[in-house]
Amino acid sequence: MLIIPLIAGRYVVGFSDSKSSSPHTKKLTSSEENSSSSKKYRYRVVIDAGHGGKDTGAICCDNKIEKFIVLSVASKLKKKLEAKGFKVYMTRDDDTFVKLPKRTEFANNKKADIFISIHANAAPSKKTRDIFKGIEVYYLSPAKTKRAEDAAEKENAVMFEGKDFYTKNEYLSLLSREKIVESHKLGLDVSAKMLKNVRSKFSSIVNGGVKPANFWVLVGAQMPAILVETGYITNPKEGKNLMNNYYKELLAKGIAEGIERYLSHK
Ligand SMILES: [Zn+2]
Repeated sequence: MLIIPLIAGRYVVGFSDSKSSSPHTKKLTSSEENSSSSKKYRYRVVIDAGHGGKDTGAICCDNKIEKFIVLSVASKLKKKLEAKGFKVYMTRDDDTFVKLPKRTEFANNKKADIFISIHANAAPSKKTRDIFKGIEVYYLSPAKTKRAEDAAEKENAVMFEGKDFYTKNEYLSLLSREKIVESHKLGLDVSAKMLKNVRSKFSSIVNGGVKPANFWVLVGAQMPAILVETGYITNPKEGKNLMNNYYKELLAKGIAEGIERYLSHK
């Protein structure tokens, strides 16, 4: 039985393969064993398609419904990460309602190395539909901006249906500095790769930045966790893009490359 150090504080347990000790089989050197490609197989990513079931998320113009758009992006992302060799789990793979605390609980149970929640944003009013645009990435932190506060308020709405939630100050006080820093780093890598990919064909896409916010869905995650707002479905141009299959492919490709880049630093 082999016990292989994975990342700080965690180990994976495996069984020795009799073939690997055979004189006819090439033995891996320690540098090969530590190569990023062999590491990938040990990394687990949980993808969370936002909303689902009775929780539609943002809706615009009759046919643009967040829960369907984000499930489509999440499914494409799963395929791309699996093609790169990562182990991938989804909090939902159909139109099902999943309570917010259950999503990070699922990631903790799977011992995930990354938790990524996929969403699409909406402008606060009809008047501001042309103004609000851009791809944004959020990580959980007590510090926040006005735009982050608005986004969090929308995404958090479903949380208040039940009584099973912490107070805001309670959960923010439990956040470690290390987790905030790691989630921020993950956010920067994902944002950079996502923008590079979508801008290769959709040059006018706005960089909405990587920002701290307090989304309930990220609360409780024991691993670096981010929430991606893939664009504003209320913006005429971005809403059209989010219904475009090729655009969603590029988004997924960028997110996968960002995750790969972040994990390659480990
Ligand atoms: Zn959402």
